[in-house]
Amino acid sequence: MNLSDSIVYAQGKFAKYDDARIGLLTHGLHYGTGCFEGIRGYWAASERELYLVHVRAHFERLAVSAKTLLMKLPHDTDELAELTVELCARNHFEENVYVRPVIFKAAEDIGVRLAGVPDAFALIAVPFNRYYDADAGLRVCVSSWRRIDDASIPARAKITGSYVNSALAKSEAQMNGFDEAILLSADGHVAEGSAENLFLVKGNVIYTTDPSQNILEGVTRNCAMTLARERLGLTVVERMIDRSELYGADEIFVTGTAVGVTHVSSVDHRDVGDGARGPVARAIAEAYEQAVYGRDAAYRNWLTPTYADQKIAVG
Ligand code: PMP
Repeated sequence: MNLSDSIVYAQGKFAKYDDARIGLLTHGLHYGTGCFEGIRGYWAASERELYLVHVRAHFERLAVSAKTLLMKLPHDTDELAELTVELCARNHFEENVYVRPVIFKAAEDIGVRLAGVPDAFALIAVPFNRYYDADAGLRVCVSSWRRIDDASIPARAKITGSYVNSALAKSEAQMNGFDEAILLSADGHVAEGSAENLFLVKGNVIYTTDPSQNILEGVTRNCAMTLARERLGLTVVERMIDRSELYGADEIFVTGTAVGVTHVSSVDHRDVGDGARGPVARAIAEAYEQAVYGRDAAYRNWLTPTYADQKIAVG
């Protein structure tokens, strides 16, 4: 599908992407004063249904991000979920998609501040498959860039400006021949990947960094913790993780809306385990895939169907 012709939701109405432009002096562009979400939709071909994953959780997180930036979403969570379904239906998607809600400071003037600056809200949806071609696993490094601290820009809010931190780390990693970067917090503990949360398996326990470590509390992170406990019967512990623990882990995997559940094959040139995908990462990745394609009845409540309750004609 051509992006120019795709349907977006902006300024309170559905419009063509090309008809929903913003001005060059827009506050959010200059000062990074926006926040956003990423929501996946998975196309279940046999059911001819597009399942949106944890739509409400994403909009609830967006509401908190927006509040942090003194913004207010123009709709409540249920309305936003309905708009997202309608957006996907209007685009007639029959493939996997990524939906990008964004709210940003829309003033077109000079002056950095938050209070009293008007907001604009938009929903954009694009076809989207794999973020990584990573059957071989990700080769990651610990970044020389440190994760932004809550005292500077809160990482728990998904703020557009903070993605400079992710972009610096990710580019450094890629330019040095790695797939992805792991960022440490300013005090040297493991935080997260550029756009993923991190899990480490040691024995029969799964560890993941706790929310005080300057992480975005991922929706997929919650899914992985649920699947680990309910489907694998494993103990999941949220705690501070040291860099050197990465080197001795049996398995490491990362989670995120874009990456799903993807295993890490090496950290700083040291193989994780024997470098192959381990049984825990495999089982969680497979359980996650079953759930998001609507094949696991126990997790159908994670999903919002696009075409089942559509309110507009789709042809
Ligand atoms: N951390 C960061 C910095 C991210 O950008 C993302 C992607 N949104 C995640 C973690 C994973 O969060 P989620 O599972 O909600 O996509």
